[in-house]
Amino acid sequence: MTLPQAFIDKYQHLLGADADAFFAALQQPAVAGFRVNPRKVTAQLHQNFATNYQPVPWNPSGYYGKISGRDIAQLSGAIYSQEPSAQGVAALADPQPGMRVLDLCAAPGGKTTQLAGLLNGTGLLVANEIDRQRAKVLSENVERFGYDNVVVVNHDPDSLAASLPQFFDLIVIDAPCSGEGMFRKDPEAISYWSPDYVLQCQERQRNILKAALKMLRADGQIVYSTCTFAPEEDEENIDWLLQNYPALAVVTPPATWPGVDAGRPEWGHDNPALVGARRFWPQHVQGEGHFMVKLQADGLVVKSTEPKKLATNSRQTKKDKRTVAPNNTRLNQTQQKLFDQFVEQTYRVTPDWTRGNLQLQKDQLFVLPAELNELTNLKYVRRGLWLGEFRKNRFVPNHALIMASTPEQLKTVIDLNMSQYQQYVHGDVIRLTTTLTKGWYGVSYQKQIYSWGYLVEQTLKNFYPKGLRF
Ligand code: SAM
Repeated sequence: MTLPQAFIDKYQHLLGADADAFFAALQQPAVAGFRVNPRKVTAQLHQNFATNYQPVPWNPSGYYGKISGRDIAQLSGAIYSQEPSAQGVAALADPQPGMRVLDLCAAPGGKTTQLAGLLNGTGLLVANEIDRQRAKVLSENVERFGYDNVVVVNHDPDSLAASLPQFFDLIVIDAPCSGEGMFRKDPEAISYWSPDYVLQCQERQRNILKAALKMLRADGQIVYSTCTFAPEEDEENIDWLLQNYPALAVVTPPATWPGVDAGRPEWGHDNPALVGARRFWPQHVQGEGHFMVKLQADGLVVKSTEPKKLATNSRQTKKDKRTVAPNNTRLNQTQQKLFDQFVEQTYRVTPDWTRGNLQLQKDQLFVLPAELNELTNLKYVRRGLWLGEFRKNRFVPNHALIMASTPEQLKTVIDLNMSQYQQYVHGDVIRLTTTLTKGWYGVSYQKQIYSWGYLVEQTLKNFYPKGLRF
């Protein structure tokens, strides 16, 4: 890897005696890792990972190693590939049950899926991504993970702040940055790098932070992270935050993470609070470069914005209740009957979402997370759990619904053998020898559910989404 001379000079000066080890580490291959999804990982998979893979010290659900994107553990949403240092961000955020959490710069979804696992179906997670195409990838990853309390939206931070002032308990800002920490993983990032680019990133990050703070509730928390070593984007930005928003204080992480360094006050105007930040250097940890810090607010950080009246469960008035679900978003009698029949025939345990806030958009049926009863002014890419659609006289379940369904909830899951599985992910119809009756079934391989199938007279019709087939 050939590094720009200005980069070499800068880090030789900043790192002194550690610089040689730093440059040597940058010439090594990137380190791969993955995380398990607590909702989906089977006992057998757990056993396999614990026996064959090294754990990531700062994330109890993380392991070192590479698993193919076509492995059933990936397709079923039981794991997510994510380099090990990046796994520190959601671990540091440590969302508590029931919190309203925003992942402001969320695509492709590494932190979102980890946060979702930590929330474990409680509270609300809003995953936002400014770039429409990247937001779609984020949405697919959210779908695979199978949590029904996650919505995906596509906003710039300012427009999101205008819709959701003082709304979140915890905001994660995994900011777009100069990407120095990813030079090993993505060498193309080197070609964008220049001292000016680092300063442009700093300005953009401050604008994102300003918008984020408008969305923070009183006594809320923010986690700021980058995958760059640049003090301008790291310590300098946190010092700037602390100087401009006195209600914020750095939270020193309780965990001791082996090899992980403290932030450097001397790189942020000697602000002593910066020792509470965390730096992942490739010469000290097995992982890529990262910077992260958690901040706690004392009261409201930004007081000027008037909070909008939101129709949420906890604060609903009688009038709100009447206006929450206009008639055109409600199921008519026939639709309700079709939906109830589907649930009755397919599920052993009636899932919680059947009692949730069901919303009809044309013929498509969704269930909105309880915390987000009605926010129609958001640009949704995924508005909660997509249950399915009404077609003529039928209810057809969506792929998102099977990804959110567990084997314990379903009456029957059809577990395919290897050759049937290979045919199925290719899009083929499968002939089965079975006495099962006509209807919808979860389809699994090695007990990991990855699709719906519709069984008619021993023929399993293929409902694996066309875009996912291979
Ligand atoms: N958190 C993601 C994950 O763990 O998978 C990675 C996020 S990446 C470091 C930063 C994201 O910020 C990118 O998806 C990028 O599209 C988005 N972004 C770029 N410019 C932005 C802006 N001005 N405001 C908000 N987000 C922006």
